[in-house]
Amino acid sequence: MGFKNEFLEEQLNAAGFFQYGVVDTMDINFSQEVRAMCEVNTCREHGKTWACPPAVGTVDECKKRIRQYEKMLIFSVKYDLEDSFDFEGMMEGAKQFKKACRAFDKAIKPYLEHYLILSNEGCDLCKECTYPDAPCRFPDRVHGSLEGNGIFVNEIAKLAQVKYNNGANTVTYFGALVCNEKDLKELENLEVK
Ligand code: SF4
Repeated sequence: MGFKNEFLEEQLNAAGFFQYGVVDTMDINFSQEVRAMCEVNTCREHGKTWACPPAVGTVDECKKRIRQYEKMLIFSVKYDLEDSFDFEGMMEGAKQFKKACRAFDKAIKPYLEHYLILSNEGCDLCKECTYPDAPCRFPDRVHGSLEGNGIFVNEIAKLAQVKYNNGANTVTYFGALVCNEKDLKELENLEVK
């Protein structure tokens, strides 16, 4: 989808996001089933940082945290792979997506007081994470994952009309800006400098 405004669209494009769309947080299904998938630990990030379960709290706590806000703007980036076994390509895409989410966060931070950014799994901000022995070094810059918060990404992608699967030999990562409708509108109505 495209926005009428230029500021938000410019920031989304500058961060390299491929597609985006908005859903109501009340329409999001928070599921223990997704959390069970995290526990299988295919991504190898479970219990390793403050950005993933169990550090992010129970599914109910995640639901409450996200539903403090009214809207979720979902965005994605598609990365090309050499083939479907290209694990290195997937890892590089995951790293690049984290960077894109941070760039977007930095761009909108001066304009929004209350919001959350969610991204893909893990946190690579520090060489070694403090978890679980000491508090997170950068709690304002950590982006928890959609899945870690108990969200089925394929479900919200469908709701937001963002393509979940972009074809053979590609991997698509998803993130989100969670905020209130009035703040999203203000962001939309900002003038491009
Ligand atoms: S910012 Fe550092 S301490 Fe905090 S979750 Fe990320 S890696 Fe861990």
